[in-house]
Amino acid sequence: MKTIVVTGGAGFIGSAVIRFLINETPHKVINLDKLTYAGNLQSLKSIDNSERYTFVQADICERAHIDALLNTHKPDIIMHLAAESHVDRSIDGPGEFIKTNIVGTYTLLEAAKDYWNTLPEAQKSSFRFHHISTDEVYGDLPHPDEYKANEKLPLFTEQTAYAPSSPYSASKASSDHLVRAWQRTYGLPVVITNCSNNYGPFHFPEKLIPLVILNALEGKSLPIYGDGSQIRDWLYVEDHARALFKVATQGKVGQTYNIGGHNEKTNLEVVTTICKELDKLISEKPQGLKSFADLITFVKDRPGHDRRYAIDASKMANELHWQPQETFESGISKTINWYLDNQAWCENVQDGSYKRERLGAL
Ligand code: NAD
Repeated sequence: MKTIVVTGGAGFIGSAVIRFLINETPHKVINLDKLTYAGNLQSLKSIDNSERYTFVQADICERAHIDALLNTHKPDIIMHLAAESHVDRSIDGPGEFIKTNIVGTYTLLEAAKDYWNTLPEAQKSSFRFHHISTDEVYGDLPHPDEYKANEKLPLFTEQTAYAPSSPYSASKASSDHLVRAWQRTYGLPVVITNCSNNYGPFHFPEKLIPLVILNALEGKSLPIYGDGSQIRDWLYVEDHARALFKVATQGKVGQTYNIGGHNEKTNLEVVTTICKELDKLISEKPQGLKSFADLITFVKDRPGHDRRYAIDASKMANELHWQPQETFESGISKTINWYLDNQAWCENVQDGSYKRERLGAL
């Protein structure tokens, strides 16, 4: 049994990773999370009574807290997901992104390096620092409308040069560079993953897919940036969690692995697919609507908006034998049904009431 520290474990992907680790593996998990607006312990209710699970509220920028946690729990693996993750927020206020994503990763790397240096040789060589990053560090790819029909479109590979466009992706790119440098310079055994857009249960309702589902249910407009032609490569979050575990336990030190869902969709396709599914599931629509698609509204595009992301995940398939199990159709159907069944979770995370409940209980 290994001990795995997961930073950002109360977030969307981190909570899926922890549910996977507790339900599908024998390992112990320490969830290190600051509980920002995006962190929510209700996403972990199904596993939080496991003896193999511990929650520690801490900030990755606070070195003393990280040192105490590492020296107490003596992890074999650190899976680092804690981050500010919403591009729109990074445009309105980049400061928190620089602090958490860059300074926080630096602080965690320094603490991990000093802890790692105290380990006996065998544990030292099996230790892993797994940094979880995004495909957005690569910037954007040519869009199909710039290519002739049947021409092969390029994909992001592990060799693609970094060209981030937003304060979010620039801060993640910076943190990737720091992680690589700590391996080259100090020998810290790191692995890095760059993943495409995730979707699935427990996704904070500011992101496209949950926002569209919840707005539709309330009869609110469904805002789409620009003309909706931006392409993302959608990956179901539980497929991502499985991939991350493979990399953390079987990935080669110093290597990067790109993880994607083989599901390129324009934002407009995503929104119309959700509307069609909801049309089938809900006969009594708000405000007497005929179709949820009537709520689609095109709004001014996001500045610096990347037009296309798409991942070549062949290294994951060939070296670690990982493939996504969900198609977009099966994953989106599961996701929509989850949001229909869990509206209390959505209300709680949106109005912060779960945090008041938690504080009241302390
Ligand atoms: P999220 O915003 O849902 O969760 C982030 C978590 O980090 C929250 O629980 C928050 O409380 C915690 N956190 C934030 N600042 C912290 C700090 N200073 N100290 C400790 N904890 C802190 O994010 P997510 O969507 O789950 O993404 C997780 C990681 O995966 C991020 O690093 C992100 O860049 C990366 N990623 C996300 C996607 C995606 O589609 N969501 C795709 C590729 C990569």
